[in-house]
Amino acid sequence: WIYLDNNATTAPAPEVVAAINDCLLNSWGNASSSHAVGQISKQKLVAARATIAKFLGCKPAEVIFTSGATESNHMAILGALQRGESRRLVMSAGEHASMQKLARTLAGQGVTVDFIPVTADGTLDLDAAKALIRPDAALVSVMSANNETGVLMPVAEIAALCKAAGVPLHVDATQSVGKLPFGFAESGADLVSVSAHKLRGPKGVGVLLMKSGLAWPALFAGSQERNRRGGTENLPGIAGFAAACERLATGTETIPETAARVAAMRDCLEAGLKAAIPGTVVFAAGAPRLPNTLYLRFGAIDADVVLNRIEKLGVIASSGSACSAGGSEPSALLVAMGVPRDLALCAVRLSLSDATTDAEIARVIEAIPAALGPLLGEQSDPGG
Ligand code: PMP
Repeated sequence: WIYLDNNATTAPAPEVVAAINDCLLNSWGNASSSHAVGQISKQKLVAARATIAKFLGCKPAEVIFTSGATESNHMAILGALQRGESRRLVMSAGEHASMQKLARTLAGQGVTVDFIPVTADGTLDLDAAKALIRPDAALVSVMSANNETGVLMPVAEIAALCKAAGVPLHVDATQSVGKLPFGFAESGADLVSVSAHKLRGPKGVGVLLMKSGLAWPALFAGSQERNRRGGTENLPGIAGFAAACERLATGTETIPETAARVAAMRDCLEAGLKAAIPGTVVFAAGAPRLPNTLYLRFGAIDADVVLNRIEKLGVIASSGSACSAGGSEPSALLVAMGVPRDLALCAVRLSLSDATTDAEIARVIEAIPAALGPLLGEQSDPGG
């Protein structure tokens, strides 16, 4: 396969698999047990927390291990509503499905959820944000980069508005951490969600970073994670996550170097497909984007048709968020950006990783036109 669905998940790096196996074999004790077997695990947990904290630019005590970004997002949102009187949340319109669905449930329970609209190029409408970010909000939540379009959101500007209003800021940084440099202290956020499986780590583990001094209600009661997240720690997952961070921190390439290499491959893919397939339209082309993400449509060919055909030639991609795939609903984000529904259903996302090669990109530039060839004459591009 040529795997171009890395925004859905990435292949665990060999170092990650080794760290997980080692943990399962040699440090399977409960890190909360005071006996020697538990203490071996405790030491691993402390070391992994320190590695992850260093990579994310925060203090070890600011790291709360969770089962992934979905849980981290839920803890941020639900905790915000429990800790004070406010029943009003501000979120960005392009949030991940885990947030959108939660927002809908909460709205049904009388919580006011105000969405910062996205502009036609997929970024956030800062004028609208200015009007919505007021002291009466319990929390503002935005994403650092969108999982579908790859658009980088104006987090610094949102952080300044939150600071002025005295409202805590949560950032879902799941798609940008590992792909671009990140530092919790500099981010301006009070809470940040990260997931290990997007950066060559394992699934089912992530963190919620929480600024020192902030008190936040737990989702799961229990004494682990300083009473902030109950449940025996997923030590193999956490050790795998730490190995993924260590790999990025100490690899032969720095993160900016990898980002530049991946962006060059993405740009080559974008140019190659545009040249080969008339009617190719790239979504959010005018906005700053993640280096690895290309979201596009080939004229008006339905995404399912494209994906089926290219998979037969060994190219794996998706129509957008894996978490909301499988339905005939178009991407809510594209619709919010003003893309007509029928064209939004044509959206195909190609997302690269640091393991993607130039040779793979060259093959994809040949394979996609070959797979679509018979269809290219049939469809007319309605524009837009
Ligand atoms: N937020 C974003 C932006 C994501 O892309 C994802 C993963 N698709 C998640 C949250 C959920 O992460 P997890 O799979 O770790 O629950």
